[in-house]
Amino acid sequence: YATLSAVVKKQPSVFDGKEAASLVGDLRSNFNTGRTKSYEWRISQLQNIVRMIDEKEKYITEALYQDLSKPELEAFLAEISNTKSSCTLAIKDLKTWMAPETVKTSVTTFPSSAQIVSEPLGVVLVISAWNFPFLLSVEPVIGAIAAGNAVVLKPSEIAPATSSLLAKLFSEYLDETSIRVIEGRVPETTALLDQKWDKIFFTGGARVGRIVMTAAAKNLTPVVLELGGKCPALVDSDVNLQVVARRIIAGKWACNNGQACIGVDYVITTEDFASKLIDAVKTELESFFGKNPLESKDLSRIVNSFHFKRLEGMLKENGVANKIVHGGQTIEDKLKISPTILVDVSEESSMMREEIFGPLLPIVTVQKIEDGIQVIRSKPKPLAAYLFTDNKELQQQFVQDVAAGGIGVNDTILHVTVKDLPFGGVGESGIGAYHGKFSYDTFSHKKGVLYRSFVGDSDIRYPPYTTKKKTV
Ligand code: NAD
Repeated sequence: YATLSAVVKKQPSVFDGKEAASLVGDLRSNFNTGRTKSYEWRISQLQNIVRMIDEKEKYITEALYQDLSKPELEAFLAEISNTKSSCTLAIKDLKTWMAPETVKTSVTTFPSSAQIVSEPLGVVLVISAWNFPFLLSVEPVIGAIAAGNAVVLKPSEIAPATSSLLAKLFSEYLDETSIRVIEGRVPETTALLDQKWDKIFFTGGARVGRIVMTAAAKNLTPVVLELGGKCPALVDSDVNLQVVARRIIAGKWACNNGQACIGVDYVITTEDFASKLIDAVKTELESFFGKNPLESKDLSRIVNSFHFKRLEGMLKENGVANKIVHGGQTIEDKLKISPTILVDVSEESSMMREEIFGPLLPIVTVQKIEDGIQVIRSKPKPLAAYLFTDNKELQQQFVQDVAAGGIGVNDTILHVTVKDLPFGGVGESGIGAYHGKFSYDTFSHKKGVLYRSFVGDSDIRYPPYTTKKKTV
């Protein structure tokens, strides 16, 4: 393309219920021909995604900058290379994933054999969020294609450059008869949700998650809900302070400036240790983002003025400003908020009740480190929970007692990159999981198949039901 703006300036066209019905009808007729089921079709589409990423990396980076002023390296590591490696893995393992799995049979069916056969679900809908707008759109689509489905992607309108770039790239690189992007806001998404899908994969907040699940229930459509929540980091005093400080920063400000579903929402530590931890975080923050972080090119901005005002509103609530121990500066017209640390903010405040999703980091202090586990358990189950300690017993207790989508011990965020780990929430943080083979399984039906022959046709199961048969 000559420039990114040549691609993204176009307003998405109007898309209503009639068009949604016709789109799903077309995709379903195509799916019913069996086109998307073959190994060759799946591989060719996955290879096209890799080629698309390789050839259009520059535009993807630019769109992410336009939407979030996302630093180039962050965009590359968290979105572009991460998506590409998921796709490369699917290409490498697809044959194995598709192969029927032979399982044991029982004496009741002797002689017989049995297999679990993966079957595509049909026509699926992916709705994604704005904070990692490329990764969160393409990664589920990779799973849907690998599993042999037709798929419609609805990216977030809050990241408009990435949304329209995705629409353009998909139509250029992928099979339009079975893979489509529909851009839009609430009315377009509602029109899509009114259709009958074979699965809806939603990434976003719990409020909209409930809307999605309600719409899906009308057609008994299964859902994956990748939601968020307040992800805690519990920090013991036996740690390498510098490493912990760096990893907390990596899981907060160096991760989309706190606008991340598995970003650290709040820290819990002991009263005695809090000041040491805060000093270490301040030192590392300065070494990462300089003395004036509002000027740093290595921090994403807040996505839009709605979210800027929401975060500013949290800081302006009664008594909260007095709790700031670092940062707190804002520049409204640039949508910038500096890395901000607060201590012991009231549990009644919105900052402690709602997902923060921004650069504010409250620190909760407790008497004993074990009390931190109770603090976490008193809130809805988070998408991720982090623990920093060398104490193996505490590590075991944390893993056993903290219910969360996933857990990171002595690090933040990185568990999401392990493709053999399922990624998803529990309770208020979501339903279902994906990544690696879990993505393939999420978009497949596991069909149980029993094979028998005509030999060994025992009388036992047939009437007349004599007592003798019961004793055999
Ligand atoms: P959101 O729920 O506002 O929007 C998500 C999607 O839903 C968008 O595509 C949007 O267009 C659509 N939508 C919004 N309102 C709708 C409505 N009334 N009816 C139908 N569709 C509607 O979420 P967001 O602001 O884009 O993302 C932030 C949230 O997502 C946070 O809670 C965050 O934790 C969560 N999140 C989760 C993950 C994960 O992988 N689990 C990843 C990123 C973000």
